[in-house]
Amino acid sequence: MTPTGNKTKSVAISPGTSIGGRDIIMIAGPCSIESEAHLRETALAVAARGASLLRGGVFKMRTNSESFQGIGTPAFEFLGRVKADSKMPLVSEITDPRQIEMMIDTVDLFQVGSRNMYNYELLKELGRLKKPVILKRAFAATIDEWVHAAGYVTRGGNDQVILCERGIRTFETATRNTLDLNAVAWIKAHTEFPVVVDPSHGTGRRELVATMALAGIAAGADGIICEVHPRPDEALSDSFQALDFNAFEDLVNRCEAVAHAVGRTLYRPNSKIVHAKAATVAVG
Ligand code: PEP
Ligand code: MN
Repeated sequence: MTPTGNKTKSVAISPGTSIGGRDIIMIAGPCSIESEAHLRETALAVAARGASLLRGGVFKMRTNSESFQGIGTPAFEFLGRVKADSKMPLVSEITDPRQIEMMIDTVDLFQVGSRNMYNYELLKELGRLKKPVILKRAFAATIDEWVHAAGYVTRGGNDQVILCERGIRTFETATRNTLDLNAVAWIKAHTEFPVVVDPSHGTGRRELVATMALAGIAAGADGIICEVHPRPDEALSDSFQALDFNAFEDLVNRCEAVAHAVGRTLYRPNSKIVHAKAATVAVG
């Protein structure tokens, strides 16, 4: 690969929202969608606090086959309503090419999870679509393998790929994963892909999420994807890393200050609650 400098090509997600430009994008929502009421409560809260994209898993890839696997197909009955109410595009994980038909009209950004980064048949199918893809790095993938996996999407004609650094597996056990910010700097220096940091899976511990989000932006990330739940301790998946609404609000305000420090802006199209505070952070 030839270094291209910091020449990230921005990827449009929906009218007005793209990833990879001057704006830092905040993607937030539950690990797993638990019900319509749960998703709506979370979506409205994160939108008001500065999120511009909603995340939420319908199909979950869980290590333990007995763990909650996501609510699956019935979610498609209400996802459109929640998107319309919260005015946010939706990011959701696709785990099998057979889900494309069901998801394509509702999901605005297909997430390929860590466990599927090497699923080249899935990546090739997504390469035939005109829909952006966020490709998470596998736990043990080298940067080179990750970028080559993205090539399976782009070679099909879909160059709308965003990479997501979500932590790799190392000898460390104090945290769930080790967030590799070298990779963020490397992707920005050597490729044209936008890159987003996931400090939720990258640390697995809610007390570390905000700090690593700030570090991610300082390292050059184009956005943050993080897990938020109205009552984190009750989350059906990944409860240890979920933030509550107040913690998310604080994280966004601090990310905005770091964004300004590195010459960027934080995109807040729906933000109602924190504009005044954000201005204080920016000036103060
Ligand atoms: C997720 O984002 O919900 C997820 C399962 O992430 P990862 O694939 O990075 O483990
Ligand atoms: Mn999760």
